[in-house]
Amino acid sequence: MSKAAGSGVGLYIKPCPAYAVRRYGAEGWGVIGPDGRRAGPVAPDHATAEARRAALQAEADARAKRGARACLCCGATFVSDGIHNRLCTPCRGRDAGDEAQRPYIERRAG
Ligand SMILES: [Zn+2]
Repeated sequence: MSKAAGSGVGLYIKPCPAYAVRRYGAEGWGVIGPDGRRAGPVAPDHATAEARRAALQAEADARAKRGARACLCCGATFVSDGIHNRLCTPCRGRDAGDEAQRPYIERRAG
């Protein structure tokens, strides 16, 4: 039997925390944070809310260190989800097989 098929274990890619713009009826537009709550006041127009959303997202991305990073395995530059994400997608997929591709520290004998 194949190890991967039906095992229920697969690649889990955590979604990036994202900010979104939402309509607040006649009040205007608000920014919803990753926690589902409104971040900041309601803006009268969509453009103002969108500018605030972009600023909050950029701040959150910088905090999480999302952005271009060199893959630890092949050295290729890829868009990383954060400090925890150090392998590019092809290299991450490769370790689904029996051969481990991730660098690891050998356990010392004795
Ligand atoms: Zn790679």
